[in-house]
Amino acid sequence: MQAVFDGHNDVLYRLWKNGAKGGDPVADFIEGTEQGHIDMPRARKGGLAGGLCAIYITSPNMPDAVRDENGHYAIPLCQSLERAPSLDIAVDMASIAFRIERAGGWKICRTCADIDAAEKEGKFAAVLHMEGCEAIDADLAELDVFYAAGLRSLGPVWSRNTIFGHGVPFAFPSSPDTGPGLTEAGKRLVKECNRIGIAIDLSHITEKGFWDVAKLSDQPLIASHSNAHAITPISRNLTDKQLAAVRDSNGLVGLNFAVTMLRKDGANSVDTPLYDMIRNIDYLVEHVGIDSVALGSDFDGATMPAEIGDAAGLQNLVAALRTAGYDDADLAKICRENWMRVLRSAWHEAVV
Ligand code: ZN
Repeated sequence: MQAVFDGHNDVLYRLWKNGAKGGDPVADFIEGTEQGHIDMPRARKGGLAGGLCAIYITSPNMPDAVRDENGHYAIPLCQSLERAPSLDIAVDMASIAFRIERAGGWKICRTCADIDAAEKEGKFAAVLHMEGCEAIDADLAELDVFYAAGLRSLGPVWSRNTIFGHGVPFAFPSSPDTGPGLTEAGKRLVKECNRIGIAIDLSHITEKGFWDVAKLSDQPLIASHSNAHAITPISRNLTDKQLAAVRDSNGLVGLNFAVTMLRKDGANSVDTPLYDMIRNIDYLVEHVGIDSVALGSDFDGATMPAEIGDAAGLQNLVAALRTAGYDDADLAKICRENWMRVLRSAWHEAVV
């Protein structure tokens, strides 16, 4: 079985939501449930060895989409959030992560050596990511605390505006060039992440924000869960010009399994063939190269193709890639090694 390290999931968000309704997040993860996409039993079954687990700063309600008869839609940007409840949410989700670790459900990894060790122990290798930085103030004090707690990756914005920058709204079809980029505080955040060793994720930022980071950051560009705009022209996907910049920085694009970001028509339908995933991987490989394409499923955060279903179905994608001509070395890169390379760089970790 091909081991998969996946660049984006929202399992902490799902467990946190269930916890708020009286559920037990630790048992939900360790024993497994029917809900969502990732838990220990399903990760084992599908060869999901680890991944970036988002502390997703949650909007209380998504605005309604404006739709037309052609299936086109635009969801207005979510309202900006205050720091105080966002910080509470971030601490709650981080706490769930540590409780799962204490109960033996996974290992919180801070280095690639940690990830290797977790996999050898047969434990899910969880890396803490923060999706949207409303929990962090402009003086970056909370960043120090979250780093000390294990945070190793962040997106300066989710699809909202923050003190650090501007998020891209969900719209189809739409260019990702929907507004301004990083603020002055956002530029300081990027430099500080470079300095202390936190990966910067460009999924959800406007195109201008993408270019601001490209200019400032001394690290390979990472879009953890975005696809090719040339195939699915949703605002969240990357244009050919952005893909070229990822390639030139030796960066990484993680394939998002969300059907709305894979399908040409952008529809939210589980009846989306594996071919749509392969077509996207082929396109990405052609534009950024085999060393810069990886996976960023968005498990527990999006509608999955029926042929994947959840983490237990991951090897169906691996098998389809093999049939499409990807050999063992290619699969190792796409499924794991490319993530290790960019994380090792972002974390200032030597190859051992
Ligand atoms: Zn996301």
